[in-house]
Amino acid sequence: MTRQANTIAPQKLARLVEIGRILNSATNVDTALHYIIKQAAALTESEAASILLLDPQTQQLHFRASSNKGNDPDMAQIPVPLDSSIAGAIFRENHPMLIADVSKDPRWNPDVSQTIQFQTKSILGVPMHDVDRKPIGVLEALNKQDGSFSREDAKTLTILADIAGVAVERARLAEDLAQAYQVLNELDKLKTDFIAVASHELRTPLAVIMGYVSFLREEANESMAAQLDSVMDAAVHLRDLIQGMLNLRYVDAGDAAVHLETVDFVSYLRDLLQAPNETAVAKQQTITSHLPAQPLLVQLDKSIMEVALNNLINNAVKFTPPGGHINIRLAQQGAEAWFSIQDDGIGIPEDKLERIFNRFYQLEPAMVRQHGGLGLGLAIAKDLAALQNGRIWAESTQDEGSTFYVALPLVKQG
Ligand code: ADP
Repeated sequence: MTRQANTIAPQKLARLVEIGRILNSATNVDTALHYIIKQAAALTESEAASILLLDPQTQQLHFRASSNKGNDPDMAQIPVPLDSSIAGAIFRENHPMLIADVSKDPRWNPDVSQTIQFQTKSILGVPMHDVDRKPIGVLEALNKQDGSFSREDAKTLTILADIAGVAVERARLAEDLAQAYQVLNELDKLKTDFIAVASHELRTPLAVIMGYVSFLREEANESMAAQLDSVMDAAVHLRDLIQGMLNLRYVDAGDAAVHLETVDFVSYLRDLLQAPNETAVAKQQTITSHLPAQPLLVQLDKSIMEVALNNLINNAVKFTPPGGHINIRLAQQGAEAWFSIQDDGIGIPEDKLERIFNRFYQLEPAMVRQHGGLGLGLAIAKDLAALQNGRIWAESTQDEGSTFYVALPLVKQG
């Protein structure tokens, strides 16, 4: 039984479905285009195939991919005008076109053939569309190997062009996204590098200022001493900010900066909490701690864990109003030790609970900030927790308070 001329053979349909499946996962435009032309030539039994895409600026078509042996870069340079070319006519009329002998067509431009040394005889061309059915280019099959292009070829190529148009569009979006992501990463790195250099550079002059202030303080009379104390307070504040910036070096050094040792988390925390938090005292806040009676053995780097936990403690103090309450707990949860710090401060909206761990992210808009800080503390704490095989996260109800958790695996005993 012979098939009707305008139906598509079941094997070809199956092949088209398979092509659609493969193109669905394409994230690179050039790879997608080359795959499409290879399939176009194979499905229509042609010598070659090409894709021309519209340049939205010049409104001209350009060869983006071709399966001829020609020189692709040369081809891409040649603009194909919309109003005086076969591809242009297919694009404008938004309709498949079958040209059995190009030499007889007045729109045929032999320049391309000459440049790439490929003798085009017949063309089957179909428009390619984006998701909104807007034409974006033309897919051409060149020189049918045996006989002439059939209506089945035209139908097959039209379906392929439809699948391809959407895939190319999606691959373009994926590429744009990857590029935007790369730019963001570069910007992020620039910021981080700047912070590292700036903090380093600021440290030396600050040390000189602090040295001279304490020297002058010893010599000063009473009224002068009060003023020098204010200078010293400001310098200490500046030193703490710089220290916060310098802590990034632990993160950037990664594993190399971490020296894990087996430690009893309970006594480690008891020692850490012994010194009163001066800001909390000044704000008349109550800090209470609930530590288990039994030791909890974990692996941590003492100084690095101190940086992470102090960032959480300082935040709780900072974002809790005077007279507020802060509860620190340590408890066993399954195979982990959970440190938690709960405050009854300003809280965090639920949709920001993950973003606050991004570098430089702060809830308060930069220009109207009431609380100081660089927006680095939580990002550093998160990375440092991870370097010690731990996790960090937050729970919060806005205007009621927040709880930050750090989970560390317990050392297996026995
Ligand atoms: P910084 O404290 O320097 O602003 P962090 O990275 O430590 O930077 O914190 C990021 C942001 O997360 C803070 O600016 C604040 O908006 C929010 N935040 C952190 N801890 C708390 C907390 N305990 N209560 C309310 N908001 C908090």
